[in-house]
Amino acid sequence: MTTTLVTGGAGFLGSHLCDRLIERGDEVICVDNFFTGGKRNIEHLLDHPRFELIRHDIVHPLHVECDQIFNLACPASPPAYQYNPIKTIKTSTVGMVNVLGLAKRCRARVLQSSTSEVYGDPHVHPQTEDYWGHVNPIGPRSCYDEGKRVAESLCVNYHRENGVDVRIVRIFNTYGPRMDPQDGRVISNFINQAIQDEPITIYGDGSHSRSFCYVDDLIEAMLRMMNQEETIGPVNIGNPTETSLLDLAQTIRSITNSQSEITHHPLPQDDPKQRCPDITLAKKVLDWTPQVELRPGLEKTIAHYRSLLEG
Ligand code: NAD
Ligand code: UDP
Ligand code: UDP
Repeated sequence: MTTTLVTGGAGFLGSHLCDRLIERGDEVICVDNFFTGGKRNIEHLLDHPRFELIRHDIVHPLHVECDQIFNLACPASPPAYQYNPIKTIKTSTVGMVNVLGLAKRCRARVLQSSTSEVYGDPHVHPQTEDYWGHVNPIGPRSCYDEGKRVAESLCVNYHRENGVDVRIVRIFNTYGPRMDPQDGRVISNFINQAIQDEPITIYGDGSHSRSFCYVDDLIEAMLRMMNQEETIGPVNIGNPTETSLLDLAQTIRSITNSQSEITHHPLPQDDPKQRCPDITLAKKVLDWTPQVELRPGLEKTIAHYRSLLEG
């Protein structure tokens, strides 16, 4: 039986990953410090005989035995990662060293969940893996962007120097049920606002874009990446359908039959103007393309948010 460690396993993506790993028959060790995640996301797994939850912060060494490690521990929404920027940096650097040290001792394969944020405010569009990015090293997002860049560097250097078996995926904006409604990310905010008929808050004029991937598609790609031998990556994972923030607001307003007005607010500093993955490499090595289009994905997410409101 494969024993799989998921750091950040009580978070949005981590909890969906734990579900898939349990389904596949793994023994799952979920490690989380509950900073942005919570027991609510994995409550249904707590009594499962192959599931174990450890409350632990990866900035401190961890000693468990495992065959595979998915490293997802790190706050992902801008308000959450900027809440304690030094802690965010430590999680992606000191935490990454601990995860790689553990992998080295156990001879486990590690998949690092990197991010499209390593491209910063990109000058190449759509972004290919060989683009080095355009990141402000001292701006408010740098605790996250630069932390994730160091984490990638640690992975490739542990691979070269110590033979640690690594995989790196660069995840683009992903959404779906269990995304924390209060996390401040755009889809969470817009859905909350629309279902309560409150003003929808677009930062800037709404012409800038993101490309949104539904969680089930993302998890499928992560599992394929972990289990292929062709490349250590990095490999972009995301949905290449680009959407302007204004179109997103209008789509959410239409699905929810909302009366919300659309309002405009200042764009945060260093906010990337556009982001869209080139997924040629993922198609080739993972034989993967996203299956869920934006509207049906939003409908499922909205249904989940409504159920939370109704308690
Ligand atoms: P999330 O905030 O829901 O999950 C992160 C989890 O990590 C939480 O459960 C949190 O409590 C835990 N955590 C944070 N710091 C920790 C620490 N020091 N020790 C132990 N646990 C810690 O976010 P998510 O959207 O599920 O993101 C998961 C991973 O995927 C993150 O590494 C993030 O950078 C990456 N990612 C996500 C997206 C996205 O759009 N969701 C995009 C790019 C990259
Ligand atoms: N580490 C860990 N769990 C383990 C093995 C190592 O948390 O099972 C930590 C260890 O505390 C160290 C880090 O991983 O700080 C890096 O380990 P490595 O073997 O690369 O370096 P060293 O121990 O020589 O500093
Ligand atoms: N955004 C917005 N209104 C909100 C929250 C976010 O217009 O209420 C914008 C934000 O400025 C950014 C985009 O939506 O341009 C995506 O933001 P998010 O925080 O979800 O992710 P990231 O910036 O990390 O891609």
